[in-house]
Amino acid sequence: MALSRLPLLTSDNYYQDDTYMDVSSFKPFLQCEAAAYAKYHDQYKPSKPKSGLDPLIFGNFIHSYFESDESHKAFLQKPDVIDEMHIHKSNGEVTAKLKQAYSEDGLANRMIKTLEDEPLFDDLYMPGDKEVIVTGEINGFAWKGKIDSLNLERGYFCDLKTVDDLLKKHWIEGKHYPVSFAEERGYFMQIALYQELIYQNYNKWLQPFIFAVSKQDVPDHDLYDFDTDEIREILDEQIETIKDKQQRVFDVIKGNVKPTRCEHCEYCRATKKLTGSTHITDIELR
Ligand SMILES: [Zn+2]
Repeated sequence: MALSRLPLLTSDNYYQDDTYMDVSSFKPFLQCEAAAYAKYHDQYKPSKPKSGLDPLIFGNFIHSYFESDESHKAFLQKPDVIDEMHIHKSNGEVTAKLKQAYSEDGLANRMIKTLEDEPLFDDLYMPGDKEVIVTGEINGFAWKGKIDSLNLERGYFCDLKTVDDLLKKHWIEGKHYPVSFAEERGYFMQIALYQELIYQNYNKWLQPFIFAVSKQDVPDHDLYDFDTDEIREILDEQIETIKDKQQRVFDVIKGNVKPTRCEHCEYCRATKKLTGSTHITDIELR
């Protein structure tokens, strides 16, 4: 499809749209194509985290608070955040009881308060335009992103992340040392893409920041910058990875090539069938 004929994205159709690629759909294909394909085509739902809370909904609850009163009010009506509905016998009025995590003194509101009490957050995150959708192209492929807080005037943009524990060690395939949440979740690729899409739309290279707030009982928070020459190289590599892999990912999604199984992930374990035996001395350690 010619890029000029692609649909206009709005906050209503952003998540349903599948004509543009986004980092959270793309990155799983770099880890395990079989799992990513099954998830992309709704053939497989990954097991829920122990908290029972969908991390995307949880994160969006916090984003909507800082976006606008209307967005947050609309969010409070969503079935995902409601525990049960009460119909009052006297007047038939219906009120919603929110799930514990979203209640007034619940975790989500404690995380919001943590950010609200931070002067740097007030100075950097609050003035920008919120949830700005940007689209563009990388070597002929259409990409999209949603900028949490965009400040063209002052020359930067911020992404807001909710994280279990900011300092936790994460282990990823191919690395023999632990990495940070930012590396484990592919945030370098997301930031690099956002910087590129903003440039394509506004002709400006903006400085990226990540505000992160933790899901601990007493939430931690921090502000991360990308302001070194070393990081430029890392960000450029991320765009190169997108260029190298996007044709293959597109072909897998379309069913033109068979997705490769990693044989280690949750999906592969759940669907594994043996084709023979492994010699006892050949057990591959990870
Ligand atoms: Zn797998």
